[in-house]
Amino acid sequence: MSTVKDAIGQATDRLGDEIEALSHKIHAHPELAYQEVQACGWLCDFLGSKGFKVEKGVGGVDTAFRATLETGAGPTIAILCEYDALPGIGHACGHNVIAMSGAGAGAALAAVKNQLPAGRILVIGTPAEEGGGGKIKLIQSGVFSDVDCAMMIHGFDRTLLHQDLLGVARVSFEWAGRAAHASTDPWEGRNALDACVNTFNAVAMLRQQMRPDCRIHGVISYGGAAGNIIHERAVADFNVRGPSLEAMWSLHARVVACAEAAAAAAAVSLTVTRHPDVYEPLRRNQGLLDCFGANLAHAGLAEGPAAPDRLASSDIGNVSQVTPTIHAWIGIAPLGTAIHTREFAAAAAAPGARAGLLSGAKLMALSAVDLLADPVRLRQIKEEFARR
Ligand SMILES: [Zn+2]
Ligand SMILES: [Zn+2]
Repeated sequence: MSTVKDAIGQATDRLGDEIEALSHKIHAHPELAYQEVQACGWLCDFLGSKGFKVEKGVGGVDTAFRATLETGAGPTIAILCEYDALPGIGHACGHNVIAMSGAGAGAALAAVKNQLPAGRILVIGTPAEEGGGGKIKLIQSGVFSDVDCAMMIHGFDRTLLHQDLLGVARVSFEWAGRAAHASTDPWEGRNALDACVNTFNAVAMLRQQMRPDCRIHGVISYGGAAGNIIHERAVADFNVRGPSLEAMWSLHARVVACAEAAAAAAAVSLTVTRHPDVYEPLRRNQGLLDCFGANLAHAGLAEGPAAPDRLASSDIGNVSQVTPTIHAWIGIAPLGTAIHTREFAAAAAAPGARAGLLSGAKLMALSAVDLLADPVRLRQIKEEFARR
């Protein structure tokens, strides 16, 4: 085992320049959700050149891909890549690093194919994490149905094997009232904006009773046409987040109740639209965390200070609800650099990101070997997952 693990480390280092160069190339050509044509193409070419069988456009998603490396009958381990950018600020979430840590892990495993235990390595390209829910579409079309466990890393300002990810459900409210002159005949009007504002007030009061790991945030998307008209229409969009599906949906129900009560108070009607793409919370799997933890030092990593109150959401959470999943954070930027900032975008392609990029690749490749080699461990991981 140690020989194949040493070989993985050496292969990753040997591929280091190529992995880093492609990471920089993706970073320099930021593409938004479902438009990641170039990144998808480059990743497919890279993995194809390393011996993977590559399928582009899996699950009916043009910029998704699945690359397969097979060494005989055995378990199926999925390594996930993301490669979408953010509007306006490019790769401020560092998905170029996710892409190349994943593809790099695959390439390192392909380089030692002859020494790998029997099984199947899938590198799955998952578009549109930043709104769009690419992984949800891939799950629904069966891309994860034969996967025994899934792994992904995400760049961060520190290395953490686990950080909770909240589920997030989006809901839109549209209130419809009746327009009237706001001075001549205000009593003829029914004010939709009043209902909208009262919803925000009710939600603000609800916050006091909320658990600290829940979040509600909203925006008034339409508030009326002019001050001298009683507003016949108002629209607001809310995100409701919680650490479990139960917590998220029960809070969601409370927010809907706020909007309904506000509609009744203003004597206007309400249309509630639930958005279909729900990012589900990350389900933690201790067996996978232990496997990654045992390979941390070998990959050249050490965990940083915990940051339990910094809670985001991702469609990797949906994957974790259908198969055992790990989503580790790898330090690629100076401590204190927040994601979705221009500073993080710069860090994701700076020389300082190289160590984390290659270590992330090693961590996943080393752990994949452990999982292929130890059916008992994998069975325990799946039993833990089945316990819910
Ligand atoms: Zn992001
Ligand atoms: Zn991200």
